[in-house]
Amino acid sequence: MRVLFIIIDGVGDRLIKGKTPLQRARKPNIDKVAKFGICGISDTIAPGVVPGSDTSHLAIFGYDPYKYYVGRGILEALGAGVKVYDGDIALRANFATVDAKFEIVDRRAGRIDEKDAKALAEEIRHLKIRDFDFFFTHTKGHRGVITIRGERIRASPLFTDSDPHSLGPIAWTKPLDASEEAKRTSEAMNEWTKKVNQILKVQEVNKRRIKEKLLPGNAIIARGASSFVEGVVYKGATYSGQYAKSLVKIERFEEKYGLSAVCVAGGPLYKGVARYLGMDAVEVKGATATIDTNLEEKVKATEASLKKYDFVFLHIKGCDIMGHDGNADGKKKFIEKIDKALKPLINSNIGSNLIVLTSDHSTPVSLKNHSADPVPIAICGPNGTIRRDAVKKFDEISLTSGGLGRIYGLNIMPIIMGIMGKAKMFGT
Ligand code: ZN
Ligand code: ZN
Repeated sequence: MRVLFIIIDGVGDRLIKGKTPLQRARKPNIDKVAKFGICGISDTIAPGVVPGSDTSHLAIFGYDPYKYYVGRGILEALGAGVKVYDGDIALRANFATVDAKFEIVDRRAGRIDEKDAKALAEEIRHLKIRDFDFFFTHTKGHRGVITIRGERIRASPLFTDSDPHSLGPIAWTKPLDASEEAKRTSEAMNEWTKKVNQILKVQEVNKRRIKEKLLPGNAIIARGASSFVEGVVYKGATYSGQYAKSLVKIERFEEKYGLSAVCVAGGPLYKGVARYLGMDAVEVKGATATIDTNLEEKVKATEASLKKYDFVFLHIKGCDIMGHDGNADGKKKFIEKIDKALKPLINSNIGSNLIVLTSDHSTPVSLKNHSADPVPIAICGPNGTIRRDAVKKFDEISLTSGGLGRIYGLNIMPIIMGIMGKAKMFGT
């Protein structure tokens, strides 16, 4: 028995004129998983906690995010395929436009296009500042990842964001503790930011952009410094991606569960979470993590992966985007699109493999943001493996009367292990 684990990002919602988007959508294939499965709702982190996509995915895979969350920078870097080594620091970064006094005029450099961003990124790919190597990798659009590696001194993630999250003066970073490492990394970071501006502002690409009345990409602003030690994570978040120093060993997914695992996703964050847990991640052509993603290709990649791996995690992003956009009809339509695309996958696996269908958090269209509302979950397995309940529809309301009841995200993997007959007895 293999596991097909599908996460529909942000699918959970609230009632809009009496019904949720899941209730409104026609989705016979998704409903089949609920009808032949065991159903419930899940608080991915805990009741009342509003989950981020990163922390909730960790919890769903059985890793307590309060213990294992290292901040977004490292996850983004791993997701983008950047090589990260023991002791490296990673930050998420943006091309921005600043004036001569380092006042931010635009946080995304006028949403600089792929081609210009890539060309500029080449110029700042590797810079040596004092004791540190700074690497910049362009990811998508105006976005990128910075990694910092210490030579004689370890780089520290304990410094503040240079991204002020608003227009106005750039936020020069400050160390967050009294350590020499934090002080030196923070100083080097500021020096890097100035150096990058000197390099970028004279590039032909930017001169051309100014001539064309486009905003130049003449600065990089960064946030969410986080550190990586292979097999080990820094424990205990203080705030916004800064982490305290007690070390915890992180067990690879395969070691923990005895299941070889792979991720099929478009968004770098999800591939990053998967790689962080030691899963493989496949690249799928046309997987964009938007509503235009190529679902058919993702389904094909998932089918192929199920022949090679015990556990296949398929991530679908679009519903979360529709939720953030406040687009109820778009969300319903995307659910219907997912349902059509999943038809062959559900049909070929129902009754033979374990299918888990759930989400990482709710993204109600009325809030245009994540909420603490529990998410739907249905688990369907071969005959005799699960205690099928009376639920027939996969939606927030119907699922509440199912046999799983209301569970935590951290309960999902143990439940799967139990169904697969891999759970160890407690006591005699
Ligand atoms: Zn999410
Ligand atoms: Zn979201």
